[in-house]
Amino acid sequence: MITLPEHLEIRDPRFLDFIHPMAQLERLATGFTWTEGPVWFGDHGCVLFSDIPSRRILRWSDTGGLTVFRENSGFNNGNTRDEVGRLIGCRHGFRDVVRTEWDGSLTILASDHDGCRLNSPNDVVVTSDGTVWFTDPTYGILGDFEGFRATPEQGARHVFRLSPGGAPEPVISDFTQPNGLAFSPDERRLYVAESGKSHDDTVPAVIRQFDLGDDGSLRDAGVLAELDCGFPDGLRVDRLGNVWSSARDGVHCFTPSGALLGKILIPETVANLCFGGADGQRLFITATTSLYRIYVGVKGAEPWTRSHLG
Ligand code: MG
Repeated sequence: MITLPEHLEIRDPRFLDFIHPMAQLERLATGFTWTEGPVWFGDHGCVLFSDIPSRRILRWSDTGGLTVFRENSGFNNGNTRDEVGRLIGCRHGFRDVVRTEWDGSLTILASDHDGCRLNSPNDVVVTSDGTVWFTDPTYGILGDFEGFRATPEQGARHVFRLSPGGAPEPVISDFTQPNGLAFSPDERRLYVAESGKSHDDTVPAVIRQFDLGDDGSLRDAGVLAELDCGFPDGLRVDRLGNVWSSARDGVHCFTPSGALLGKILIPETVANLCFGGADGQRLFITATTSLYRIYVGVKGAEPWTRSHLG
C-alpha cells in the first residue's frame, strides 16, 4: 500500500514508473497573469517561459531565481528550440514566428500565408531536420488581453510546416483551434491539441494524431485521447513516447496508445509544460499565475535535449 501525495492521481500502475511517491510539487514562482511556453536551456541551467499579457519572457534557475529574459516580447506565447538550440517563439502581437539568434537579434521566420497575415501563432516544435511546425489559432486576435484585436485573414486555423528557407505550408486545416503540438521520439507521428472547446462547448477536447509519410504527407491517424477535464493546450512527449498534456486540473499522461496513466494535479489551470532540469527529469509546468516543477523520472523527446543543450 503506497500513500500518495494529494497532487498525484494514479489511473494505471505504470504511471509509478515515472512518478515517485515522494516527488513534491514545487511552486517556483508566482504572481504572473497567464504563463505559457516553458522551454529548458540546459546549457544555461534555466527555464524560459512567457507571461503573455505582461509581454515578458521570464527566466528561472535554481541559482539565479526569477529574472526577466525579455521585455516587450510582443505577447510571446509558445517557445521551443531548433535543431541547434536557438530559441523559437510565437508572437501574438506581431502575428509571427520568430527565431532568436546567438547574438540576441531576431529573425522573423513566418508572418503570412497566401498574401494574408497569420492569425496568431500559438505553439511551435522543430524536428531534427530543422523543419518548424506551428499552429495558428485565433486566440491572440480575439481581444486585447493577449494580443491586438483583429479580424482573421486566414481562411482556416492551420497547422503549418516551415521548411528551412521556405514559406509556411498548411498541412492540416480542419481544426477549430489547433494549439500545442509535439512529435513522437522517432518523429513519425505528430500530436496536435484541439482547444476549440475554449469558446465552443460542442468541440471535443481531444489530442489528434497524424502519421508523417516518407513523402512528407500527413495521414490523419484519429484521436489519441479525449480529456476528461477542460481541454488540451500545450503538449510534450517523453523519450518513451508517452504524451503529457496540459488540462484544467493539471497534467495528464497518456501512453502512445492513448491510455491515461495518471495525472499531476495542479491548483491552477495548466497551459503548457516542458521537460528539463539538470538531469532532464523534471517537468516544468506553466499554470495561469505560477511556474511549478516536479520530478518525473523520464526525459523529453525533443532532439536538442539529447545534446549538451538539453
Ligand atoms: Mg498554447
